Amino acid sequence: MKNVQATVVKHTGSHYLLSILPAWELFPAVIRGKVRLQKSTATNPVAVGDNVLCEVPDDVSESNPAIITEVLPRRNYVIRKSTNLSREAHIIASNIDRAFVVVTLAFPEVKLPFLDRLLVTCEVYGVPVTIVLNKIDLLRKAGADDLIAAFHDTYGRLAGYDIIETSAKTGEGIDTLRQALAGINLLSGVSGVGKSSLIKALDPNLNPKTAQISLSHLQGRHTTTFYEMYPLKSGGFIIDTPGIRSFGLLDLQPEEIALYFPEMLRESQGCRFTPCTHTHEPGCAVKKAVDEGRISADRYNSYLGMLEENTKYRQK
Ligand code: GDP
Ligand code: ZN
Repeated sequence: MKNVQATVVKHTGSHYLLSILPAWELFPAVIRGKVRLQKSTATNPVAVGDNVLCEVPDDVSESNPAIITEVLPRRNYVIRKSTNLSREAHIIASNIDRAFVVVTLAFPEVKLPFLDRLLVTCEVYGVPVTIVLNKIDLLRKAGADDLIAAFHDTYGRLAGYDIIETSAKTGEGIDTLRQALAGINLLSGVSGVGKSSLIKALDPNLNPKTAQISLSHLQGRHTTTFYEMYPLKSGGFIIDTPGIRSFGLLDLQPEEIALYFPEMLRESQGCRFTPCTHTHEPGCAVKKAVDEGRISADRYNSYLGMLEENTKYRQK
């Protein structure tokens, strides 16, 4: 029996797979008895990315798994709620170094207010974000240079996000993406934007749709995989999170929302009133910045939409 610190790399219905990162040597573990947990209202006490203390038997196996005794404090985590109003939250992943939000401007067109929500979500959770603009080959072919330039202007120059243009098809940008993927990373984005294709382009040995962690003898028959981490040959780990959408807006006060738009936070230093909702207040520096082109009107409109929705939920 050894006491070790390890990281949860996969969570199925009944058990966990752990590894002592950066090594990728998986062993099964369960929670038994009293675990010292983080204070949280989550439905799952232990999530992918959690650093845990555990007791590992010398002959660790599925019938003799390690026992998780303590979940160490989380640096950050992202949750999924069943509904916006739900108090119940499921922790998708924790201790994330960076989220890569994959979008496409066409085929399918990702609606920018949706992207803005995801970005706010990451900001609320304290997870640094890089935007991955995938299927760039199709945009170039369609001659959509203006669209690409406008995107860089709004999200790169004005909002300050890192943007990587990629094509899983031609390989453009894949090296840049690979280098940015140090540590534990979330890969997020709606279905069809090319998340699995990107993972395959990054590492041809990884095929997330077919090659789940191949330790079939460690997997019980009735298990459901929630989330799992994939190791990249180049170092770094990816957690594929199709489930992450947007946070429960209820958790935010209306005047807090603008704090999570980096360019609004920056400009709001000049507002006459604090707090300022940047809607009707006189002397609002944010509205001035929108007028003068230092904040994109689209981003500001996304903000107004979120503010309105937030108010609606509060009245219920
Ligand atoms: P996911 O649902 O986000 O995992 O998306 P997939 O990886 O399954 O990709 C959806 C579709 O887009 C597939 O038909 C891919 O071949 C295609 N696709 C993905 N990335 C690119 C790209 O960079 N360029 C082009 N032209 N097609 C892509
Ligand atoms: Zn203001």
